[in-house]
Amino acid sequence: MFKAILINKDETDYHANLTQLDKSQLPLGDVTIKVSYSSLNYKDGLAISGKGPVVRQFPMVPGIDLVGTVIDSQSKQYKSDDQVLLNGWGVGEKHWGGLAQIARLNSQWLIPLPVKLSPKDSMAIGTAGYTAMLAVIALEKNGVTKDKGKILVTGANGGVGSFSIAILAKLGYDVVASTGRLEESHYLKALGANEIIDRNELSQLGKPLQKERWAAAIDSVGSQTLANICASTMYGGTVAACGLAQGMDFPSSVAPFILRGITLTGIDSVMRPYADRIAAWERLADIIDQSLLAKISHEITLDHVIPTIEQLMAGKIRGRIVVDVN
Ligand code: NDP
Repeated sequence: MFKAILINKDETDYHANLTQLDKSQLPLGDVTIKVSYSSLNYKDGLAISGKGPVVRQFPMVPGIDLVGTVIDSQSKQYKSDDQVLLNGWGVGEKHWGGLAQIARLNSQWLIPLPVKLSPKDSMAIGTAGYTAMLAVIALEKNGVTKDKGKILVTGANGGVGSFSIAILAKLGYDVVASTGRLEESHYLKALGANEIIDRNELSQLGKPLQKERWAAAIDSVGSQTLANICASTMYGGTVAACGLAQGMDFPSSVAPFILRGITLTGIDSVMRPYADRIAAWERLADIIDQSLLAKISHEITLDHVIPTIEQLMAGKIRGRIVVDVN
């Protein structure tokens, strides 16, 4: 038997509970893992609270991130005692995920834990940090160098936002953080933001072209905010769209694209090929240090997951939550 969070749905009810499961209930997969840590992301919040249609089949063990030790493998790529890491691939949505003490997965979804990172460090980074790294790499590929101007990060206190600020600052960029929680400015400055703006500046209906303010942006918010970001990006700049915390709509015009030549680049972490994952995680292992992880993350146990999700969905969590599942 092992402990897990389990989501169930019937005609009248949607609920998540901490429960005991039997190994015989695990889904199919060629690698079985003793999970050491998982983490909580916005998507896990949608899945556990039922506020978004994330879970595609029931019952479901949520958890889009996990790290652990291989205990059984039919794959040539991994053997017992290997330390492995998983982000995405629909795990925690279509296939049982990481908020459990045991997981059975497809080996092609895994990557080896980078040697420079401890299991706990990797979950402090998690999908949020990995997505932030993918976004920074996308800006670099589009020629966004430090001398081009300021870089805007929205959803600054969230997981993707916090890591985007920290990575960009470490690489020497001049970072502007947009937040609804100005009272957390000291935290955002400690991560490396040089300037903090109120997210209300960006969330209301604006003109199709506005004053050019930043050379690039990493956006977790979508909707009107993303439209205003595009409208205020400097000539030739790049905007990386990662998230939809404000909404999934994109009420923009073609003006910033055809008059200022800006690029809107989409960031998907879920289906990302193996080589991109390895490249992003290797960069993270080089850039991220312990003092930063201590600032950004805090740890909870499996029995605190459900109450913590309420706070996450209410926008009251800062940075990242690591879940010690044992
Ligand atoms: P978090 O919940 O940690 O952070 C989201 C942040 O967005 C909040 O902290 C808040 O920042 C801001 N925010 C919340 N509500 C609103 C609102 N109504 N308007 C404007 N800002 C708001 O989430 P994550 O960082 O884990 O994820 C951020 C987004 O990125 C989510 O939409 C998530 O689904 C998406 N995502 C996408 C991935 C991909 O592969 N493309 C991978 C990972 C995440 P503040 O309080 O500072 O304003």
